[in-house]
Parts: sequence; C-alpha cells; structure tokens
Amino acid sequence: MHLVESTNANNKIDFKQALINPNAPQGGLYSPLTLPLFDGEKYSALSYKDFALKLIESFGFGYEDLFKKALKSYENFDDKHCPIRLRKIKDKLYINELYHGPTRAFKDMALQPFGVLLSEFSKDKNILIICATSGDTGPATLKSFEKASNVKVVCIYPKGGTSRVQELQMRALDKDNLKVFAIKGDFDTAQGTLKQLLHSKDFQNKIKALDYELCAANSVNFGRILFQIIYHYYASLKLYAELKESAEIIIPSGNFGNALGAFYAKQMGAKIAKIKIASNANNILSEFFNTGIYDLQGKILKKTLSPAMDILVSSNVERLLFAKFGDKRTHELMSLLKNKRVFKLEKEELQSLQEDFEADFCTDEEVIEFIRANKLLIDPHTATCFKLVDTTKTQIITATAEWSKFTPSMIKALYDRECVDEKSDLELIARDFDLEAKEDILNLFDMKKENEQVFDPAKIQEAILEWVQK
Ligand SMILES: *Cc1c(COP(=O)(O)O)cnc(C)c1O
Repeated sequence: MHLVESTNANNKIDFKQALINPNAPQGGLYSPLTLPLFDGEKYSALSYKDFALKLIESFGFGYEDLFKKALKSYENFDDKHCPIRLRKIKDKLYINELYHGPTRAFKDMALQPFGVLLSEFSKDKNILIICATSGDTGPATLKSFEKASNVKVVCIYPKGGTSRVQELQMRALDKDNLKVFAIKGDFDTAQGTLKQLLHSKDFQNKIKALDYELCAANSVNFGRILFQIIYHYYASLKLYAELKESAEIIIPSGNFGNALGAFYAKQMGAKIAKIKIASNANNILSEFFNTGIYDLQGKILKKTLSPAMDILVSSNVERLLFAKFGDKRTHELMSLLKNKRVFKLEKEELQSLQEDFEADFCTDEEVIEFIRANKLLIDPHTATCFKLVDTTKTQIITATAEWSKFTPSMIKALYDRECVDEKSDLELIARDFDLEAKEDILNLFDMKKENEQVFDPAKIQEAILEWVQK
C-alpha cells in the first residue's frame, strides 16, 4: 500500500519515503487512502508484539523484517512481554497505561520502534534530526536514537517551558550523538526556530556540506502514527473478549496523534464505541468537535499544568478531515485555516464527526480538584479525561504520562501545598502510595548542574553547525 497526500491524493509515496521525508509537495500530510480492515479477534491470543506485526502487515507496506526488529524495542519496557498495562480502576472504568517505556510518557510507544525504522532505512547516510519539544517528545526522541551511530539528534526546548524532570531527562541524554539546546522564549519560539531551520536553504546547504541529511521526526510523521493505532486496537480487543462490549476510549489530546490512532483503529474494525477527546484550557479541539468550527482567530496559547496539550494548531486533525471528507475538501478547509485562521464544517460533516467523537475540556483547577477528590496517582494530562467519564458505559482512559514527571502538580493536588524539594517530595508520594519510585527518575536529581547555557534563538543555527562538525 502507498500513502497519499491529504490535500492531493494523486501524490503517492512509499512508506519508507514518507518516513524519511514526511514533507509532502503541497504541504499536506501523508495518509492512507483507505484503512485496511483487520480482523483482530483472529489474533487475540497473540502477544502484543506479534499482534502488532499482524496489524502492521495488514497495511501491506512490506519491510516485514524491519518492523519485527523495530517492535523488539518494546522489550525495554517495564514488562518486556507487553509495553502497555490495562487496569481496571472502577466498575466499567479501565485505564490504559502507555507510559511504561524508558522516558515514562506515551511518546515512547511510537518513538522507540520509529527510531529503529529510521536508522535502518537510512543506514548508508548520516542523518541529522532536529526536534522542538514542550516536554515529552524531546526525551523520547533522544532516547530512541541513543545507540544509532549514523544519526545525530538536536533537541530545542524553551527554558522553563517543560517540567523539571523532562528537562533533566534531556540533559542526561546530552552526550555523544545527542545534543540539547535550551532557548529563551516559549514553545512557539522553539517550534518557530525549528521551522526556520528546516526551511533555510543556507542551513540545508551547510548541513549537506558536512555530509548530513536533515530529517524531521515530528509528530505528524506517519511512521509514528502507525504505532499509535495498535495499543488502542489491542486494549479494546482485550476488553471485548472479557465483556463482549465495545468500549469508549477517552484520550487527552494536543496534536491529535494519539486520538487519530484510535480513529484509525476503529476504521480498521476495532471494537471502539466512541472516541472522547479531552483538552485543557486550550480547548480548541473540544470546541471543534462540539460546533464544527475550528477557530484560531484571537486565540492565545495558555500555559497549563498539562503542557504537552498546550497546542492550538492541532496538526493531525487534517488527517481526520481527509479520512472523512477526501482530499479536495481537506485542501479547501486547510486553505481557509491558513488564510482566514478559521473554518466551519457543514452540518452533515459535523454529524459525521460526532458519530465517532465527543469532546470536553478541563481547567487546571478542575484537574487538581479531581486528583485530590479521588486520591488518584494520575498525571495532569491524563486527569483531563475525567469529565468525559460516564459510569453507565464501559470506558478506557488513556494514560499518557507517569505522575513522576509532574511532582509539583501532584503535591499541590494531593497534599495541598507547594513542592519544596522535588526529589524528596517524589519519594514521599511513592511511599504514601506504596510504590517504588523509578531509579532512573530519582537519579536525575543528583545530576551535576553543568552546561545549562540558555541560547538566543538567533544563535542556534551557528551552535548546531559547530556541534555537528565536532
Ligand atoms: C504528547 C502528549 C499528549 C498529546 O498527545 P497528542 O498525540 O499530541 O494529541 C498528551 N499527554 C502527554 C503526556 C503527552 O506527552
């Protein structure tokens, strides 16, 4: 199977090419023209990895041996036989924990195998990957290329714009082929700096002269989306086998990659009743699914306790529009968004979306209140799901990060005070909840504070070139 461009389905590309160079000619996103039907029940007895391989094979992309090798990366997760953990938390309510990978966030679910694929696909070349992060993408991307000798990774983050643990995770990985730059500004500045670099002919030429090829491993890369279909399919299948009932899936959403994976799973035949989108105070997605209007006009990004969801331009919505309404309509809507900063769906189009989706959002106060009232150890992103919980339905909450990355918020919610010392407060929570705090996270706090230079965005190009040459 080929992938096609969302805004012009005549532009076709092979999976490997889409993975290495995700920039489509008209600026659209490479997507499947139709999703293959996949009879998961036939494979419900298989291990996660074997199940994943069958699901991937149903796309007919080829590269079977490489996928097999990529999926082996899940052996680094807490349970080497299964990367996810599906738990019952209440009658009819389940939680699908996707954060049992090396950096304690769901980004590992895609970036671990993705890293293997990209390194294998580009074995004969030197690759430079640059990413901008507001938290979890950075550590997960760095970690995934830690051992890839032909790949260098540069990660740009806004100083003060990530949690302390996320920053320390990146700093700990700043070595050998991996480089981290803190910059002055917010996530938009970091993302803007990245875009400028990726589009600068001067920069590209200089990188080429150093015998490196630039590659974007950002969240719209279809090679990442593919792995985000599997866990939703797998979890709903397990529940269906037990309860003979299709579950609803609730997903804390930002760039809409995780939720798109659930939608694709549903299209492929997974027993998913509905997909429920949870947002924070940047509630553009919940507004969209409730009104059919995607409106950027006059909106300003708010900083919240769930920074990975502090997004207004939710890129993967474009793939949903394409799957529902085709390339011409997607082109029309995306052009409106670009030129007028707003688009509005027809009534029938909105109805079609609402057959699959529902949405709501939570403020920070509500998130804190919810964690406090339920004494639940769930991180502030996952906690945004609670408003969509309906006790009459079987539901799966998608847990996207481990609480340990957000100790200050957890302390505020659970102990109603400010965090004093993050390490000892983390240990305190672990003790009180009878858990073992992860060594990897605890050790971060003992790291020597060195090289915490904060860069002016204008000086980044020079700094990257200097580092690549080393
Ligand atoms: C990235 C991230 C999200 C948002 O996921 P999308 O695929 O961008 O919608 C939610 N929670 C956490 C913890 C994340 O790291």
